[in-house]
Amino acid sequence: MIDQPGTTAQRAATAFAAQAAGTAARRMSFGVAERRGALDRLAEAIRRNEAAVVAALATDFGKPEAEVILTELLPVMQELRHARRNLRRWMRPRRPLPTLATLGTSARIRPEARGVCLIIAPWNYPFSLCLGPLVSALAAGNSAILKPSEMTPATSALIARMMGEAFSPDLVTVVEGGVEASEALLALPFDHIFFTGSPAVGSIVMAAAAKTLASVTLELGGKSPTIVGSQADLTQAAKWITFGKFANAGQTCIAPDHVFVHRSVKDDFTAALRLRIAKSYGEAGASPHLAQIVSDRHAERLSGLLSDALSKGAQLTLGGEMQGRRMAPTLIEALTPEMRISSEEIFGPILPVIAYDDIAEVIAKINAGPKPLALYVFDKDRAGTERIIAATSSGSVGVNLTVAQFTHTGLPFGGVNHSGIGAAHGEYGFRAFSHERAILTNHGSALPLVFPPYTARVKRLIGLVKRFLG
Ligand code: NAD
Repeated sequence: MIDQPGTTAQRAATAFAAQAAGTAARRMSFGVAERRGALDRLAEAIRRNEAAVVAALATDFGKPEAEVILTELLPVMQELRHARRNLRRWMRPRRPLPTLATLGTSARIRPEARGVCLIIAPWNYPFSLCLGPLVSALAAGNSAILKPSEMTPATSALIARMMGEAFSPDLVTVVEGGVEASEALLALPFDHIFFTGSPAVGSIVMAAAAKTLASVTLELGGKSPTIVGSQADLTQAAKWITFGKFANAGQTCIAPDHVFVHRSVKDDFTAALRLRIAKSYGEAGASPHLAQIVSDRHAERLSGLLSDALSKGAQLTLGGEMQGRRMAPTLIEALTPEMRISSEEIFGPILPVIAYDDIAEVIAKINAGPKPLALYVFDKDRAGTERIIAATSSGSVGVNLTVAQFTHTGLPFGGVNHSGIGAAHGEYGFRAFSHERAILTNHGSALPLVFPPYTARVKRLIGLVKRFLG
């Protein structure tokens, strides 16, 4: 942790006061060129520190270098490039046409900075889920205080150092620490809070925001179901599910949590899955291509989830071993609702495979739980896939793929209710950090014709308009 004098509450208050003092001036001075300049400074800081990012994530949870580049550096670099290129267009006011009642006026919607923003990040992608939202915050003209996760201290310290070098604290600063730092920050009257983490903490954040009426974006989690239909390409399904589930050792918010597979293809699918897992991570389990579980506590939680399921009758069909904090890719079957793994977000490399006969049972199960962050469907039957999409709700859907929806800058990324509120990425991220201000200018509006006194002529006119609107 870099040196940050004072108590956590004092540090939070000082950081906030420094940014709040500049809000009014920033409204006038933080235009396209200045925002691009800030994005360039962030890009430059990332370029200069690439090796340090790889090292920090290796220290925090043994994440392989290729996975750090793929899932931590590239998403932020892509957001930066996309924002830089589209910033002018995003900032341009939109001009809706006048309506009958507002003939003789001109309307515009001007995206404006919200002001001072708080970004609270989780540990699972501690770099990209902290700096990705910062790209949107800066593009939208805000200042931001970042609160990285205390579970990944090397990455947290690195982000603090990088931001200290790239930005003046009245634009971007970092307050490190755990729950106490979050609580101290949440007590302050931020204009917007962008939180990524668990649904349980998400509701604490929303309750805190309710006190100051800060707007919120909540990027939460939950169990993302995956369906493998009878007409799926099983090799492709196994390839994508293996990547989506075991990248980052399953500690991915949009990882397939469990798989429903049509009974007619269950054995073939399981065989394809085992083959793909062996090809990706070897037979031994403790593969260098597999990240570690972030902490002993989380490793114990996963072992506990597995032993609870096995003690209640689940069958282990692959893996199960834990070497230090590295858990082998694990497959289990024969789940029942009493097992904790049936209701808790797994968030680790354990994949339950559940056979089904009728898709209606699967849809009913999905609809009985909280709305998932992601839903994946593997099938060549397009009409059947569309029926599943229409019958359910989730933050996003992947058809014949997993997790790649995160990387499309043109798609909103977010959940729905229990899995999140609001969206991130590209223009959606820009909008999350903007207030869309409505401006209506009078050039000769006809509205005064219906102002009081309500003479017979005025009443006739009101009646005419009423008839016209039906
Ligand atoms: P978490 O909710 O425990 O912590 C997230 C952040 O909140 C951390 O910075 C932490 O310090 C802070 N925090 C923890 N307890 C708090 C409290 N009582 N009050 C205020 N702040 C508090 O989440 P996590 O364990 O870091 O991440 C895993 C969860 O995040 C999973 O549920 C996962 O699905 C979800 N997630 C969602 C997304 C997404 O984009 N939707 C991305 C990654 C992770």
